[in-house]
Amino acid sequence: MQFSYWEKTSFLSYDYLILGAGITGLSLGVELADTFPKAKIAILERGILPSGASTKNAGFACIGSLSEKVHDLKLMGQEAFLNLIQDRTEGLQILRNRLGDQNIHFQKHGGFELLFNHQNIDFLQQMDAINQLLQPLLGNEIFSVDSAATKAFGFNPKHIKTIVKNHCEGQLDTGKMMHALQALCTSKGVQVFTNTNVNSIDEENLKVLVNCDQITFKAQQVFLCTNAFTKRFLPEEDLQPGRGQVLVTKPISNLKVKGIFSFDEGYYYFRNIHERIIFGGGRNLDFEGETTTEFGSNQTILNKLNHHLQETILYQTPFEVDYHWSGIMAFGGNKQPLVKKVSERIYVGARLNGMGVAIGSKVAKNLLTLLQQHS
Ligand SMILES: Cc1cc2nc3c(=O)[nH]c(=O)nc-3n(C[C@H](O)[C@H](O)[C@H](O)COP(=O)(O)OP(=O)(O)OC[C@H]3O[C@@H](n4cnc5c(N)ncnc54)[C@H](O)[C@@H]3O)c2cc1C
Repeated sequence: MQFSYWEKTSFLSYDYLILGAGITGLSLGVELADTFPKAKIAILERGILPSGASTKNAGFACIGSLSEKVHDLKLMGQEAFLNLIQDRTEGLQILRNRLGDQNIHFQKHGGFELLFNHQNIDFLQQMDAINQLLQPLLGNEIFSVDSAATKAFGFNPKHIKTIVKNHCEGQLDTGKMMHALQALCTSKGVQVFTNTNVNSIDEENLKVLVNCDQITFKAQQVFLCTNAFTKRFLPEEDLQPGRGQVLVTKPISNLKVKGIFSFDEGYYYFRNIHERIIFGGGRNLDFEGETTTEFGSNQTILNKLNHHLQETILYQTPFEVDYHWSGIMAFGGNKQPLVKKVSERIYVGARLNGMGVAIGSKVAKNLLTLLQQHS
């Protein structure tokens, strides 16, 4: 295509180009615009809407359940474990300060982990130690056993042994959050191009060429915020896609469920929204099938979600599933996000391990810090 003088001077060249308009990319757009108000900044997004995880998730503003924490501590060691919780906490605070609780419908009803009768609950013995470890970061009241919760939320008492409450957790409206983030970027002069799929990136001496289907952009610095889709640019990195299945019920009268809920070390999760339940997870039923960057449904998993609703969560309440969708996350061997400079002019902030609502804004801040350290 032949571009005009005006197109060349105003639309094709940038100081900073961000690939991906998810939470990370949009948050980075805001960070860069605030720090370098005169810079030309654009975000390139392949979908008409953001098409990864950020508009598909469950909107848990969370640090994770007790069983997850026990598992993570063992996996990561104490220092990395605490750093990760601190990043999630800080990230969430940045997001809330940036957009305002009202605009994202942030509500703090707490997080609840359901422990089933058939489950080994030895990890409960570590609750006090985990509370003590997290106290400097999160305060005095973190995890406690809430034996009245099964009845209060109307769960099947024949299936649930007990419930552990996380007092620090909340929920938000993902759609409103992403809308507000996009509007903030635009208001700060960050250009967001949608329907713009990046095929390849060529780094030259003084610039980077970002090749899309019909157009090549130029930039001084490029940031890959493409999460699960990053392997196409960085095939060597430890990063695997993980698809997540989600369903939403039709409105349910007198719904007792209020807050964010999880079980099976966080593999299943549900919450209330507008008198409905959003319920997702079950990736552990078919790890192989769900290790994909393709959107699509998995009937085995959807059947299992339906089964849990019928037998445990809404066992005395008539309900209908309205519709379902999928979203794509990125995972690695450890739970740390991948934030690094990969070459002279290219940075990556990806692999958010299914917790980007909380940590995405912090990943963006860390990318900015990395850029400043190398400028
Ligand atoms: C079903 C589900 C439920 C979840 N629930 C929660 C939750 O409750 N709480 C929580 O904290 N986290 C949750 N997550 C995880 C969270 O949504 C992600 O960690 C977070 O959204 C990642 O943000 P991101 O911006 O890094 O990536 P993404 O949102 O995936 O954004 C990457 C963007 O890059 C774009 N892109 C990719 N390739 C290209 C290309 N070649 N050219 C141009 N653009 C490209 C994609 O279209 C996409 O929009 C969930 C995720 C899923 C899928």
